[in-house]
Amino acid sequence: MESGGDVVVVGAGIVGLATALALTERGAEVVVVDKETQLAVHQTGHNSGVIHTGVYYRPGSAKARLCVEGRRRLIGFCDQANIPTRISGKVIVAVDEDELPRLDELQRRASANGVEAHRIGPDELADLEPYARGIAALHVPGAGVVDFRRVAAALAEILRSRKTRFVMGAPVVGADRRSDGVRLRLADGASVGGSVAVACAGLQSDRVATALGLEPSVRIVPFRGEYWHLRRPELVRGLIYPVPDPAFPFLGVHFTKKLAGEVEVGPNAVPALAREGYSWGRVSFSDTLDVLRTPGLAALVRRYWRTGLAEILRSLWPPLLLKAARRLLPALLPGDLVRAGAGVRAQALAPDGSLVDDFVFAQDDRVVAVLNAPSPAATASLAIGEEIARRVPV
Ligand SMILES: Cc1cc2nc3c(=O)[nH]c(=O)nc-3n(C[C@H](O)[C@H](O)[C@H](O)COP(=O)(O)OP(=O)(O)OC[C@H]3O[C@@H](n4cnc5c(N)ncnc54)[C@H](O)[C@@H]3O)c2cc1C
Repeated sequence: MESGGDVVVVGAGIVGLATALALTERGAEVVVVDKETQLAVHQTGHNSGVIHTGVYYRPGSAKARLCVEGRRRLIGFCDQANIPTRISGKVIVAVDEDELPRLDELQRRASANGVEAHRIGPDELADLEPYARGIAALHVPGAGVVDFRRVAAALAEILRSRKTRFVMGAPVVGADRRSDGVRLRLADGASVGGSVAVACAGLQSDRVATALGLEPSVRIVPFRGEYWHLRRPELVRGLIYPVPDPAFPFLGVHFTKKLAGEVEVGPNAVPALAREGYSWGRVSFSDTLDVLRTPGLAALVRRYWRTGLAEILRSLWPPLLLKAARRLLPALLPGDLVRAGAGVRAQALAPDGSLVDDFVFAQDDRVVAVLNAPSPAATASLAIGEEIARRVPV
């Protein structure tokens, strides 16, 4: 079967759906293709649900700009679509003196990015989060939570009402470029064509970009983020975060009070043994071989082996995780943390072994591809969709 529209979007995660929405707003006829039979099966359906504000990101970066703008659009979208959100605020807590300069830097970034953030001491911290302990904290009132699966479902509903066609259960395996467009080959032999293709393929983004004829500058290395459920949710009122390591693009194990009142602890960051490896038991030899052959891996391992090993040990041995979590919440007791689900982050690795921090896009005259859209891309999705739609010549 051959079919098509003006633009074919690969990926029915939140970024692909937001991009499709922005394209339909410009009058384009869009087809969305996904290898899974359901929407939002990968990162969009396996994240912390945090609406980020933009405190962390380097001023002037795409992350800073698109997070601030995306959060504004997301909250407006949720209000209109009757999707519940809770803006509970977050505290980023410094436990040791040597974390204070990093807390200062976050405050500087918040101010440069136009994000409200207040430095507070132990007494104000105790008022906000009575069980958290620290010597200082940054209070970020604008952070909150939402269920990004609901946002994805609402985006898809609007798209369907605009006659966007969804081709689900259809892995894109290649593409034929033509003078008037591009035709994507699907695994079952069918094809979908358009004048332009947009790839928002998350964990497979480098592979899909290659299949569409681009030469991606980065490769995806999957990092699993595992979660634990807190048996005593009354210990946490909102969002409690550690001061992140600026050399590492992950935010550290944190406490997230979800919409229904339950508290999630995590995610950590351990190497996944498959692109879609949601547990230690999910191993793909071809994916692992791919990672081992990735340019820059040796440099990455040299740089992060200590941090990585500590994360792996905490993943495998619960008392170590409890010890780490008690740094922020000393009241935790053995048995308070129960292993819950996991997500896998699509994290781009540069050939020099650095973990790429910012969002990365690539394009030529027929294809636009997202090569790196880790957190806060769910928060930023509606702004990312606009950004991509601007790059698409329709
Ligand atoms: C553990 C974890 C916690 C996070 N926490 C937060 C948070 O609190 N707040 C926040 O803002 N962000 C968070 N993020 C980041 C956020 O979830 C992602 O940045 C965002 O969901 C990316 O959306 P996406 O559409 O690019 O990717 P995905 O949701 O992964 O969607 C990609 C889609 O492409 C499809 N696809 C792949 N290959 C093919 C192919 N060959 N053919 C067809 N389809 C294909 C996949 O099936 C998938 O549906 C977190 C991520 C993780 C993993």
